[in-house]
Amino acid sequence: MYKKTVIPFNQPTLIGTEKKYVSIAIKNNTLSGDGEFSHLCSRWLEKNLRVKKVFLTPSCTDALEMAAIILNIQKEDEIIMPSYTFVSTANAFVLRGAKIIFIDIRPDTLNIDEKLIESAITKKTKAIVVIHYGGISCAMDTIKNISKKYKLWIIEDSAQSILAKYKNFYLGSIGHLGCLSFHSTKNLTSGGEGGAILINDESLIERAKIIREKGTNRSLLIEGKIDKYTWHSLGSSYLMSDLQAAYLWAQLKLSENIHIKRMKLWNNYFHSLKTSNFFDIPIFPKYCQHNAHTFYLKFKNYKDCNFFIKYMRKNGINVAQHYAPLHLSPAGIKFGKLFGNDIHTNFISKNLVRLPLFFNLDQKNQKYIICNIHKFINTYKQK
Ligand SMILES: *Cc1c(COP(=O)(O)O)cnc(C)c1O
Repeated sequence: MYKKTVIPFNQPTLIGTEKKYVSIAIKNNTLSGDGEFSHLCSRWLEKNLRVKKVFLTPSCTDALEMAAIILNIQKEDEIIMPSYTFVSTANAFVLRGAKIIFIDIRPDTLNIDEKLIESAITKKTKAIVVIHYGGISCAMDTIKNISKKYKLWIIEDSAQSILAKYKNFYLGSIGHLGCLSFHSTKNLTSGGEGGAILINDESLIERAKIIREKGTNRSLLIEGKIDKYTWHSLGSSYLMSDLQAAYLWAQLKLSENIHIKRMKLWNNYFHSLKTSNFFDIPIFPKYCQHNAHTFYLKFKNYKDCNFFIKYMRKNGINVAQHYAPLHLSPAGIKFGKLFGNDIHTNFISKNLVRLPLFFNLDQKNQKYIICNIHKFINTYKQK
């Protein structure tokens, strides 16, 4: 039977050497956390991202939850973040009893509008969580100045932004804590699920070591400093299996190739598509060096946007929208509130469409996607 080929929205990165390192990990037979490959990956990230301390975690969600415990977030504390983000950004802090103060995004970068942060601060504010959407950086100098003035923690949700930069700094290395994701939808993966917490404030390292070891001082035992370990604080199990670290190691070693390939695909979209009557293509400030995580079209109205999604799917091309604004979600209403107005968040949620972009997307398929977008524009021009 004739089977129409479908271009998926995403495919996990596969560079080819994953099997080799996973086999070595199996042969080593030390598969729990903090094994040889975990060590290699953590040191690689510390060196290349210029971060004081890196711990691999089972997911970015876990890294965010760990961040909330490290910073001792308590009931009634207020946490400022954009409403336009993934659920885990907020949920991690709600688990500690905090209240989420959502604010609107900028229409260019789709990141937290830094100009709105200061007026959202109250006596209860403890932290600002920024998300570098699509690997495009937030305005970190302004946000850092606010954090200094009001003594607030900065957590970077860098789930999408590995190897992207703000000025000369890697994203995740700027706030007090940074959280990376190695989920299969991200640029690099540790085999489906995975993450890392980046600790840039040295004073938080010892606390982090206890929290990730179920609240115990087991790390001191491993370092040979004590004979017996015991329970010291709130914690959980936040270690990545070494089997997954082996998978990640294959991709970290070749991360430059992965980055170059993605950038090429991103730039193909950028140079072949121009802002039209229907949509805008990404624009962003000079201080951003993105990592080609996402290529999106911003439609000017919902009708055109819907039309486009149907058109592309009919032609076998899967495109995707997101995020349902958190401040309008049932849990968001319960655990947080919007400060100020929603001028952009809901609009972007309804009018943004992401195009297929993944390491193994071949040029031929990308040409087909671009060709279909041009066809869409020409077909519906006279309306
Ligand atoms: C993917 C993502 C997460 C969650 O990452 P996991 O590793 O799946 O837990 C959190 N925040 C943002 C902004 C993300 O894009």
